[in-house]
Amino acid sequence: MKEKKKYCANCSHCIVFKKPIAKGRYYVLRVRCDMGMWKKRLSKEEKIYKYYTLLKRRVDNCPYYDPMGEEESFIKDLKKTLPVQDIVYAYESI
Ligand code: SF4
Repeated sequence: MKEKKKYCANCSHCIVFKKPIAKGRYYVLRVRCDMGMWKKRLSKEEKIYKYYTLLKRRVDNCPYYDPMGEEESFIKDLKKTLPVQDIVYAYESI
């Protein structure tokens, strides 16, 4: 029987980070795999994804998958909070 695909979002190696834009006045959220498993097909450079696409990052079988908890309830909650498009945030002014 084929194993169900895992959501990278539930893996401790899936990292959400702020990418500064507009000379550092704003930022967008991006995700990366800190085990280097996301790569561009031709150049093999690291691939970074927009945060709102996080639920599309799924793997059949990853040797580094490290679940942070019960997947089903985590993904259910994430579906409610994940933005539906890329959002530009402003850094708080000091
Ligand atoms: S280690 Fe594997 S399961 Fe975890 S984020 Fe990277 S590709 Fe996804």
